This record gives sequence, C-alpha cells and structure tokens, in this order.
Amino acid sequence: MSDAVALVPAAGSGTRLGVGAPKALRELSGESLLRHAVRRLAAAPSIGHIVVAVPSGAEPEVRRLLSALSGAELTVVAGGADRQASVAAALAVAPTRYDIVLVHDAARPLAPPELAERVAAAVRDGRDAVIPVLEVVDTVKQVDAEGRVIATVDRARLRRVQTPQGFRRAVLAKAHASGGTAATDDAGLVERLGVTVHTVAGSEQALKITRPHDFGVAELYLELES
Ligand code: C5P
Repeated sequence: MSDAVALVPAAGSGTRLGVGAPKALRELSGESLLRHAVRRLAAAPSIGHIVVAVPSGAEPEVRRLLSALSGAELTVVAGGADRQASVAAALAVAPTRYDIVLVHDAARPLAPPELAERVAAAVRDGRDAVIPVLEVVDTVKQVDAEGRVIATVDRARLRRVQTPQGFRRAVLAKAHASGGTAATDDAGLVERLGVTVHTVAGSEQALKITRPHDFGVAELYLELES
C-alpha cells in the first residue's frame, strides 16, 4: 500500500564541502548522493511518489539521472533560496492523494528503506509529526563565545535528529504557510504550531554528508551493505 509521498530537498550548493557542483550531485562510489537517496526511498513500499527539488536549471539533468529508478513516480522541481523554500516548492507540487508526507535530505544518501517505513508507519498510526532520532553518546557542554564551558548538558534527554521526517500533509502545509524562518528541519516549524512531534529509532546509516571526510564514512557503510 503506497500512501506516502517523499519530498527531497536537493538544491543546496554544498559550500561546506568546498566544491562547485551541487552537493546532491556529488558521487559516492560512482552514484550521486541524490540517486542513492531516491533509490532507497523508492524501495520503501509506503512511498508511491517522490518529488525532488534541485537547483534551478538542473531539472532536465536530474530527471535523466533518476529516470531508470523504479518503485515510485517522480517529479523534479526547481528548489528555493534555502532548504525551507525548497521543501515548500516540492510540497506545492506533491499529489494531494497522499496524506502522509516524508521529507528527506539528499545529504543523507544511505538512509535505509526500513527507516522511511518506520516513520511512515508511525504517521499512519495517527501521529501528526514523527522524526527519527539517535541517542547522544558524547558528553555535551554549552560554551560561551570564547569557548569557555558554561554548563554540562544532561545528554540523556538529548537526541540527534535525522531525516526522513514524517507528517500528516495538512500539518506540514500549515507549518510552511505559517511563515516561520530559520528552522533547520521541518519538525522545527511544526513544533512552533504547538503540534506534538513524536520520535522513532533512527539509523546510524542515515548519516548526513556535510564535510569531505563524511564520504569516507559513507563508503564504509556501503561496503558493509554489500
Ligand atoms: O546545507 P544542508 O546540508 O543543511 O542542506 C540540507 C538539505 O537541504 C540538502 O539535501 C540540500 O541539498 C537541501 N537544500 C535545498 N535548497 C537549498 C539549500 C539546501 O534543497 N537552497
């Protein structure tokens, strides 16, 4: 049963990686980050349609890049100036027959299909907003602008948040329409509405590619996968 649409913001420039090309089109073991991410989403039985937001002008190239993937229908749109605008652009063209919306960063290419299933299942069970999380194993300290320690934070109550994040469509639409800015994830926008955000177990494999050495870590996960 496919009752979920996945939105994939992939319009970032990847400046922290120190490269000119869009980050989502950088390759990991011979396949772009975006194609890795979309292939795994398409393999999740819940997902019937995937909308990808890419840098304006890159739509034809990305359509070609993803055309051979099966398992879900595909729409490619131009993204916006920031992640939030790219998600909003994707949501605007997502088919309305899907009541469950998953938002997944192209920068997390190895998030396994089971993770998308876990998130979609929790929304299907009646939750309005669901995020995958991992525990924090390091001790965490708050510091001042000079790097001096102010406090030790109780890590037992902290979580690292990943994507895909899942929402009932109306909730996500309302969150994006509310005009909030500077949220680093979609759940952050939903929280501001006063909607309870639930958590499910995340996956170490869903790591985010941000700095150059992350590619090496992701390659190790790929080797473990094969
Ligand atoms: O920059 P960061 O790694 O936080 O980006 C998270 C995700 O948001 C990436 O998949 C990136 O491609 C996407 N993004 C986007 N549109 C932007 C900026 C980032 O779709 N304007």
